[in-house]
Amino acid sequence: KAKSEGRGTYRFFEAKLGTQVRERRLLEHDLRHAVARGEMHLVYQPQTDVQTGATIGFEVLLRWRHAERGAVSPAVFIPIAEESGAILPIGEWVLREACREAASWPNPLSVAVNVSAVQVHAPHFVQVVHEVLFQTGLEPARLEVEITETALIRDPSRAQSTLRQLKALGVRIAMDDFGTGYSSLSNLRTYPFDKIKIDGSFIRAVDGNEQTKAIVRSVLGLGRGLGLPVLAEGVETAAELRFLADENCQSAQGYLMGKPAPIEHFAALTHSALSSPEQRAPEAA
Ligand code: C2E
Ligand code: MG
Ligand code: MG
Ligand code: MG
Repeated sequence: KAKSEGRGTYRFFEAKLGTQVRERRLLEHDLRHAVARGEMHLVYQPQTDVQTGATIGFEVLLRWRHAERGAVSPAVFIPIAEESGAILPIGEWVLREACREAASWPNPLSVAVNVSAVQVHAPHFVQVVHEVLFQTGLEPARLEVEITETALIRDPSRAQSTLRQLKALGVRIAMDDFGTGYSSLSNLRTYPFDKIKIDGSFIRAVDGNEQTKAIVRSVLGLGRGLGLPVLAEGVETAAELRFLADENCQSAQGYLMGKPAPIEHFAALTHSALSSPEQRAPEAA
């Protein structure tokens, strides 16, 4: 009896595996047409100066509304897009849309775009960024590219050369999800990063947890020592923000300051005339 049960269990797993593989192939196929079918859109999450509370920019996050399935999480479709290569056209679309959008914002606001390992290693990536900046008229210094450390390990010398060329364009580079995955301190001196983003998993564990506080403090110390500003991701509570302010963290991002939303939601900030000299005049008067 046990034997037949075992076989049944095996068949069950086999069937389930078959379903997962089929699911993946379907998503992979649909991803190729998702942009053209208008199923992709971008949401924006504010990045805030911890000391002043001012919004300094927005991170762009990709959303996929599948015609039949509804919303598919980036955690599901980004890895599939990376493996199938679909991330190249999709990533280019994200970059162009984001830069076009950001070019209309008041000057100091920056835009942060997530970039996959596949993009970093693609032969024309720097050229694509260059073209998009030229076509949209966005000042290079207002574009920040977010890269995880895992994106660098496939071909370190190629990644290094790509990042150097991006820097030469004037684009800024942030290390995303710092402290997770293949974190290595040597990455901080090998690659020309401009900013460290501490992963949200640390920030959400800060409350009352001395070990996590010590880790966050040491990342902030590391940033200070290297002259790199640190942004804390995933800030959800006032207590977390207060801790970051006390520890002199430069910037933060999270549900507390704003959930990712279509850019229209932030019209008061992005259409704000605060940064234009004519509008500043009354204050001076
Ligand atoms: P990420 O770049 O580290 O983005 C941060 C993630 O944390 C986002 O998830 C965001 O919605 C979420 N988040 C922000 N604030 C909070 C908070 O206070 N609490 C919690 N619990 N979560 C918060 P999302 O949008 O699901 O994206 C997941 C990942 O997918 C991103 O991680 C990024 O690696 C990737 N991704 C998203 N858009 C793109 C894209 O356009 N291109 C590429 N290559 N990857 C993308
Ligand atoms: Mg990111
Ligand atoms: Mg992150
Ligand atoms: Mg992440």
